[in-house]
Amino acid sequence: MNVRYLTGFTGSNAIVVVGRDLRRFVTDFRYVEMAAAQVDGFDREQAPPEFLEALAGGWPDGALRVGFEDDDVSVRRHGRLREVVPGRIELVAAGGAVEELRAVKDAGEVERIRAAAALADDVYGVVRAQGLVGRSERDVALAIEDEMRRLGASGPSFPSIVASAERGALPHAVPADAVIPRNTLVTLDIGARLDGYCSDCTRTWATGELPDDLASAYELVLRAQLAALEAVRPGPSGREVDAVARAMIDEAGHGEHFGHGLGHGVGLEVHEAPRLARTAEGRLVAGNVVTVEPGVYLPGRGGVRIEDLVVVAEDGATVLSGTTKELVSVD
Ligand code: ZN
Ligand code: ZN
Repeated sequence: MNVRYLTGFTGSNAIVVVGRDLRRFVTDFRYVEMAAAQVDGFDREQAPPEFLEALAGGWPDGALRVGFEDDDVSVRRHGRLREVVPGRIELVAAGGAVEELRAVKDAGEVERIRAAAALADDVYGVVRAQGLVGRSERDVALAIEDEMRRLGASGPSFPSIVASAERGALPHAVPADAVIPRNTLVTLDIGARLDGYCSDCTRTWATGELPDDLASAYELVLRAQLAALEAVRPGPSGREVDAVARAMIDEAGHGEHFGHGLGHGVGLEVHEAPRLARTAEGRLVAGNVVTVEPGVYLPGRGGVRIEDLVVVAEDGATVLSGTTKELVSVD
């Protein structure tokens, strides 16, 4: 994804070397034509059969420090890289550098994420019309992903979650063959990938009358989600925004039932920087796109999560998710 971000290349195999006066782009035989069409402003090279050998030459003179993505390059490839590049080059770990740039979106990126979010909203509209009760979770998940593609997405940005009744208490439940019953909650967590960019949105819907514990869990999560949205703006740390929702859920006695972070950045990947979590010290800045998704999970009973996709703007937050958060009942 970093290669795509820096160059526009959408193929799956390339090396990019960037420095002051240095813009190298290396890919293999399969992608030469694609690179010619997509990659501008770089010296394009076709790699030799042993891919990394391309880095044996082509370097400026003198001693050099070259950063590599240590969160992505395997130990084996790093060893090979060390053998291939000239000895005067010092390889230094530089993972996260491009991710930091990616965390701040420009207007074009925000528009693409907005479109991916609108597509997910359209899918929610279709699912709501099709109904839930009596269908299997897997069936609903398949229909969701089918509809996404029909509406122009290249696919889901992550495997869709459809979790009803007690399975809703598992934050990352896999859709089961189980049939969705009446009078419970169903958590749907879906996202589309459109033009390379992701969306991510969770809604929890009722299937009729709810028992009191699930109804009050819904009301609590919605209150916490709205309060956390109010706190999203440039300035506070990810930890501080997380704490707004967490304090309300703690106070209601459900602290132990909210075991994940409040949110994460979304862009070319569905999980990227910055994070909103108990341990996230980085501060939000304008251009970040994050999710706000508190949840309460009651073992053996069910769960609630409500997730919006939000752009951090100079004067606050702009919510991109348009599907209603009022508790709706879907038969
Ligand atoms: Zn989600
Ligand atoms: Zn999410």
